[in-house]
Amino acid sequence: MPKLTVDDLNFNGLRVLTRVDFNVPLSETGEITDDTRIRETLPTLQKILRDKGKLILMSHLGRPKGKRDPSLSLKPVAKRLSELLGIPVSMAPDCIGEEVERMANSLKPGEVLMLENLRFHPEEEANDPTFARQLARLGDVYVNDAFGTAHRAHASTEGVTKFFKKCVAGYLMQKELKFLGKALENPEKPFVAILGGAKISGKIDVIRNLLPKVDYLLIGGGMMFTFLKAQGFEIGKSLLENDKIRLAGELLNQDKKEGAQWILPVDCVVASEVSEAAVTRVVPIHEIPQDMIGVDIGPQTIAKFTEIIHQGKTLLWNGPMGVFEIDKFARGTEAIARAIAEATEKGAISIVGGGDSAAAVAKAGLTDKMSHISTGGGASLEFLEGKVLPGVAALTDK
Ligand code: AMP
Repeated sequence: MPKLTVDDLNFNGLRVLTRVDFNVPLSETGEITDDTRIRETLPTLQKILRDKGKLILMSHLGRPKGKRDPSLSLKPVAKRLSELLGIPVSMAPDCIGEEVERMANSLKPGEVLMLENLRFHPEEEANDPTFARQLARLGDVYVNDAFGTAHRAHASTEGVTKFFKKCVAGYLMQKELKFLGKALENPEKPFVAILGGAKISGKIDVIRNLLPKVDYLLIGGGMMFTFLKAQGFEIGKSLLENDKIRLAGELLNQDKKEGAQWILPVDCVVASEVSEAAVTRVVPIHEIPQDMIGVDIGPQTIAKFTEIIHQGKTLLWNGPMGVFEIDKFARGTEAIARAIAEATEKGAISIVGGGDSAAAVAKAGLTDKMSHISTGGGASLEFLEGKVLPGVAALTDK
């Protein structure tokens, strides 16, 4: 880890301004429906509290678009955090301002203050330097444990760091960078990447960056149909990105130079419509009917993908293999989650990125079987594209 981490500092008596990603899903009545993101940061928060630091937490929640929106207050998060830590967590009325500064300054060692939603201020996403300076006034030292927003140069992830001598990574940030970084820089071979999801367009740069590094590139999901079209197959009414067919063809040819082997589906599930009530059947990919839609990978593809996944020592998965939101079309995604879990049990390193793949793994009850499930969908994709994440770059070098 080239950056300073929480292990490099003792926080005793210091006001520790900590950026976390508490952007948790809420129900219509404002209840937290999944507190994973809060739980994942506990090791960092507990280290700061054990050191007798004064913990000041900042996060965004939802998309209030720069305006105060009571339904997106971090109050319920502060309450949940208090239950998880077993100590009181006080709630600030805002994230900047005189009263908030007074609250931060009167904290005692081992106490916790949660600031109100950063995105109630448009200056947060605009990375406004005055706003960043106001945030910075609240702390003596800065910790970033919010990998999920590290790909955005916002006031709380980038601007604020200019006002601190020491800006360090929390444990969650460290864990994300360790797994994703090793996969890109020094993966154990064979390295198998499994990509799915709706479109090629969102993942072109990931494919380009991974091609020279992986041994096998398995393609499923909606994006497989543009690749199949590029190979001359008829794909019926399946998802197609017309303007990407040529690029798909060029990418498929690149493996000859790069050494990675593309593995495309050999069969798929087709449906009359994308709904639970649809008539479905399994067809080889050269027999997709004109009036049907490809919605999942088929059993022979599952067998082929599983065999390759079982050989892998590093496994990277992003994006569902089919329209997994509909149970009937979720079999391919579930089977891939199971195959990755089995390979992990036999010693492979598995990294799952992206909210949909993580949700599919959770639904199959396999979350604990994966080596690492990334908490940041967008951030992990940008990292895999080979981009520098501004929130990481801004931390202090070791
Ligand atoms: P992404 O955000 O690009 O990872 O895409 C995730 C979405 O891809 C999910 O909502 C899936 O329903 C969708 N998807 C997966 N396979 C297909 C398919 N064959 N046709 C249409 N959409 C698909």
